[in-house]
Amino acid sequence: MRIGVFGGTFDPPHIGHLIVAGDVHARLGLDRVLFVPSAVPPHKIARVRASADLRARMVRAAIGGDPRFEVDELELRREGPSYTVDTLRELRDRFRGAELFFLIGMDALRDFPTWRAPVEILRMAQLAVLARAGDEELPEVGSGMVLVPVTRIDLSATEIRRRIAAGESIRHLVSEPVREIIAREGLYR
Ligand code: ATP
Repeated sequence: MRIGVFGGTFDPPHIGHLIVAGDVHARLGLDRVLFVPSAVPPHKIARVRASADLRARMVRAAIGGDPRFEVDELELRREGPSYTVDTLRELRDRFRGAELFFLIGMDALRDFPTWRAPVEILRMAQLAVLARAGDEELPEVGSGMVLVPVTRIDLSATEIRRRIAAGESIRHLVSEPVREIIAREGLYR
């Protein structure tokens, strides 16, 4: 079994996440991509706006019935900040014999050496480095990493939150069920 692990704050999840996850699923021939909302991301503690429960609910709503994707709330069940190495340990124990691919953006890859236990991470999973058009000629991608060309979608959760705060529409930028949750809960105003 080949499993993708897509961590993020998903505050909120948007179509960029879904499109990229679909690209990686197809390119790497994955059985499934697990979306793993983080509880207290060490680097974003002050910036997260929606509760963990709401973010998980939004990710579930975004995925809908897509059989390629699944939400995994393991980081939300854990106390304190979530480290990728702990998440991968848990997933490796749960999916014995599976090949794990950890999705990581080009920007995050630059910080990777400063993460907790990067060497152990690389022993448990391959890094699926999300390469957008123009990134392909990037330097040597070491062993344990695979460069995955993905659709360039110039969209971020920050931009979604900005639009909502400014009273602008977010239609088509997030899945409709996600938009409904945001409206109903009055998020990001
Ligand atoms: P924020 O704007 O709040 O930082 P974000 O949109 O980057 O949020 P995250 O939840 O941090 O969303 O994203 C999880 C992962 O998805 C990250 O690795 C991020 O690089 C990646 N990602 C987010 N948006 C895109 C996009 N448009 N194209 C490719 N990757 C993306």
